[in-house]
Amino acid sequence: MGTDQATPLYDPEDLGRPPRPLPDCATCRKLGKLREAAQVAYDRSAETDANVLLRQHQLQEHRA
Ligand SMILES: [Zn+2]
Repeated sequence: MGTDQATPLYDPEDLGRPPRPLPDCATCRKLGKLREAAQVAYDRSAETDANVLLRQHQLQEHRA
């Protein structure tokens, strides 16, 4: 315990570049939590699902 904050939120090798939730967006936060929960549970398919949802949402709502 105590080193939790040094743990990356996502595996950088997963899908190249996983989307980053925007802290100001409720949907991003929701999907980010979903992905975190999946990572904690080592549920790779749920984690991928959350990444896909997050990426789709960001493409629609946060197109850069
Ligand atoms: Zn968002």
